[in-house]
Amino acid sequence: MRFETDAIHAGQQPDPTTGAVVVPVYATSTYVQDAPGEHRGFEYSRTGNPTRQALEVALAALEGIGEDEPGGAIATSSGMGATSIIGYTLRPGDHVLLPNDAYGGTFRFFARVLAEQGIEWSAVDMTDERLVRTALRPTTRVIWAETPTNPMLRLVDIAAVGEVAREAEAMFVVDSTFATPYLQRPLDLGADVVLHSTTKYLGGHSDVVGGALITRNPDLFARFRFLINAAGPIAGPFDAWLVLRGLKTLAVRMERHCENAGRIARFLESHPGVVDVFYPGLESHPQHDLAARQMRAGGGMISLIPAGGVSAAGRIARSTKLFFLAESLGGVESLIEVPAAMTHLSVDGTALEVPADLIRLSVGIEHIDDLLEDLDQALSHDHEQ
Ligand SMILES: *Cc1c(COP(=O)(O)O)cnc(C)c1O
Repeated sequence: MRFETDAIHAGQQPDPTTGAVVVPVYATSTYVQDAPGEHRGFEYSRTGNPTRQALEVALAALEGIGEDEPGGAIATSSGMGATSIIGYTLRPGDHVLLPNDAYGGTFRFFARVLAEQGIEWSAVDMTDERLVRTALRPTTRVIWAETPTNPMLRLVDIAAVGEVAREAEAMFVVDSTFATPYLQRPLDLGADVVLHSTTKYLGGHSDVVGGALITRNPDLFARFRFLINAAGPIAGPFDAWLVLRGLKTLAVRMERHCENAGRIARFLESHPGVVDVFYPGLESHPQHDLAARQMRAGGGMISLIPAGGVSAAGRIARSTKLFFLAESLGGVESLIEVPAAMTHLSVDGTALEVPADLIRLSVGIEHIDDLLEDLDQALSHDHEQ
């Protein structure tokens, strides 16, 4: 089926016992067995749960993996829970190549948790695959990309870096949280694994924390299934149900997120209170061609530098009314934040440091005119002072 149909139907057949059209929340930890070791597909909910399984089938379908094809999805407790599963595949002495512009929590996990276990890392600018190639070590086991990046909204050429990873025989993981499978399908472009924080667009309503790993590689998939059961960071049935509900409207939400963000990016570009705008959908974005090749549209995230520096960034972030000052992204409501002081505090003083005066917007699906008016009053008021 096509994307919009899979989002509503993949893994979501009417409940076999009651005919319920919506997959129920199977709030159960255990399952009755017909004889010792003889069960009906589920034995214990860390190992498998029908609500979580429905979500996993749907997530795999949205990344292009049918139910009878090799590979699949693993639904985790959070995006970081998914990252931790990648971490468990590594041994002391292994090297992970990270992007120099990434989600702060990803950096924290590799630099402050896995480094203590003897797993090495380094960071490189992944917008140029030649730099990726020169940063490889004989021990590089994972190349980790995020595209678009958070918060600079740079792009990584998935096909080009995928080629480097293949030559190096490293696992190529793409954190596709900002793009969602609606805008970008990394597995089709050469990624081994796609990672999502389903907390963001896939859930879409700022009411759940979750994550996912998706791969076509049957050996990796088997390894991930073993590890999630062994280590335990699973998505619970209530959380899985919320993400499943979010997925159904992903396509229509993303259309509106992209449309609103495109309008806002162009508005910001011509506003005297703004000196720089970062949005892959703008022709002024240095990688606009790659965006057109790799993504269906520019997405819902925008970053900008206001004319008045760090203090202006703080004032603007405090003075929007519709754009809530909050961390996170990808919900129906618009959010504003200053990454250096909020989401990216953990990368302060490192190669991943972000500009102190950068403002990040998560553009919601409210009426565009209300959003434009809100930003205009915050920016113009500040600019005129
Ligand atoms: C939020 C986020 C994560 C981490 O996900 P959690 O669900 O918060 O654990 C990872 N990568 C990106 C790009 C994110 O935005």
